[in-house]
Amino acid sequence: MKITELFEKQAKTFSFEFFPPKSFHASIDLGVNVGQLMKLSPSFISVTYGAGGSTQNISFDLLDYLQNKMGLISMAHYTCVGATADKVAADMDFLYEKGIRNLMLLRGDPPKGEAKFRYNPNGFNYGSDLVRFVSQQNRFCIGAGAYPESHLESGGLVNDLPNLKTKVDAGADFLVTQMFFDNQYYFDFVNRAREIGINCRIIPGVIPITNFKQIQRFAELSGAKIPESTIAQLEPYQDDEKKIYQIGVDIAVQQCEELLKNGAPGVHFYTLNKSTATVDIFESIAKHLKNQ
Ligand SMILES: Cc1cc2nc3c(=O)[nH]c(=O)nc-3n(C[C@H](O)[C@H](O)[C@H](O)COP(=O)(O)OP(=O)(O)OC[C@H]3O[C@@H](n4cnc5c(N)ncnc54)[C@H](O)[C@@H]3O)c2cc1C
Repeated sequence: MKITELFEKQAKTFSFEFFPPKSFHASIDLGVNVGQLMKLSPSFISVTYGAGGSTQNISFDLLDYLQNKMGLISMAHYTCVGATADKVAADMDFLYEKGIRNLMLLRGDPPKGEAKFRYNPNGFNYGSDLVRFVSQQNRFCIGAGAYPESHLESGGLVNDLPNLKTKVDAGADFLVTQMFFDNQYYFDFVNRAREIGINCRIIPGVIPITNFKQIQRFAELSGAKIPESTIAQLEPYQDDEKKIYQIGVDIAVQQCEELLKNGAPGVHFYTLNKSTATVDIFESIAKHLKNQ
């Protein structure tokens, strides 16, 4: 089923993102965690796509398993950095034959060792190029990435938003955001997107904080700012795993509740291939939704 068809039935969607496991043990862990998360009946799940080739086959295998063995509506992330049109076309055929109907199409980051993205006059340079190419086939539902605090290379939303509009006009059916920790960025971003005619669903991406140092690293890499108040809550306990977990879950529950109360069309959870935090957060917000 296409996610756009789900949108007709579900005012809010709840989705879980996984990455391809890199070892035997990680595969077993993932299996256990997917089992736990399936009990929550997610609207759909997604599998990330590793740049540089090493895990691409694992991504496709995992998608095949989740879509066809587990019966989950699955979305394949796919990046175009360094890809030729022939490779993209072949990969799209492969995914289509596996029953995948939903894609998250992205440019991807520069290959390892290259600090800056290199423009290629004969290649796909932006997410919008890939979206345009694939949407011409008219057979997939297409999601794309959005950055409430602006994409790191863009120099700010004033540049990034028109580029996002180009991407949506090229054929993106919905957007999923980069992680953020301050909802105001999301609300302002959605308002500004609407002002320039971006009318599709903009699903907020939420990451549970379960490890202080790890989340600081992610924030730095993605450009997401962690509010001072959140740092003040977490920092004193940075070496106390259990306490950080509890505070992190509480923060995510509050974040999700505020998002949902103020019109967000669901939540996309960056699960980090773990289930416990996402299950705790999800169950808490489900109770809240029921009581509304
Ligand atoms: C929901 C989500 C999922 C992700 N999943 C993955 C994944 O599975 N694998 C992975 O490797 N990465 C993933 N990423 C990261 C993503 O690949 C990087 O953030 C990448 O740097 C940007 O890709 P994009 O398609 O979103 O950006 P684009 O839309 O291509 O934009 C990238 C930059 O180019 C600028 N730009 C766009 N169009 C133009 C134009 N016409 N002229 C000039 N500048 C332009 C934009 O303003 C922006 O600064 C994900 C990101 C998100 C938000």
